[in-house]
Amino acid sequence: MITAEWKPIEEMVGYLRGHKKVLLIGCATCVAECAAGGEREVETLAPLLAMAMQNDGNPIEITSATLERQCEPEFVATIADQAADADAIVSVSCGIGMQLVADTYADTPLFPGVNTTSLSIREEPGLWTSRCAACGDCVLGLTFGLCPVARCAKSLMNGPCGGTRENGMCEINEDTPCIWRLIVERATARGQLESLVEVKPPKNWSNSPAGGPKRMLREDLRS
Ligand code: SF4
Ligand code: SF4
Repeated sequence: MITAEWKPIEEMVGYLRGHKKVLLIGCATCVAECAAGGEREVETLAPLLAMAMQNDGNPIEITSATLERQCEPEFVATIADQAADADAIVSVSCGIGMQLVADTYADTPLFPGVNTTSLSIREEPGLWTSRCAACGDCVLGLTFGLCPVARCAKSLMNGPCGGTRENGMCEINEDTPCIWRLIVERATARGQLESLVEVKPPKNWSNSPAGGPKRMLREDLRS
């Protein structure tokens, strides 16, 4: 899922000064799963934001909605009346959903209520950890299903780096397992450790986010 975290309320207050009618919108999918932007969080944030604006000397009228998916045009279309009545929109969806709303209601300023942080799984209640960085050239087949791009602090293709702690954690973060230690362990368990001795060729990064905006075209789906 895509994870996100609330921005500080003070930052939202800074955005909203001068606005009077605010529409707060959430998304019932990924950001609901990570408890940042679902219906419950929208219902919690709306009065907090109203109170913070009141205390700032800039009272606002706030309405809210939680869309099934803020990244799909048909769901975004359902808030047309509320958007037309607002002079600012705050979205607590991921950055994808935010931009679709900003494009759809381009005359109304949109402000982010969250920071989009990662593509993660929920490892245990209250803990999400990265699994993918959308690098555009998946190497999981070479690394025993463990992603060194998103899960190694240095995105090493030929690890480990030599800094792995004695307890197997990453030298950069003591709370994060060295993913290359896990790769080695899985390779060993499968009797394929030798496959890691061969130095992997340079990875193709041209399809990664660093290569510029992506455009995926599927002719078979366009008719
Ligand atoms: S190798 Fe790339 S596409 Fe595959 S899981 Fe890692 S970041 Fe995602
Ligand atoms: S200790 Fe492991 S996970 Fe951390 S940077 Fe080095 S190879 Fe990557």
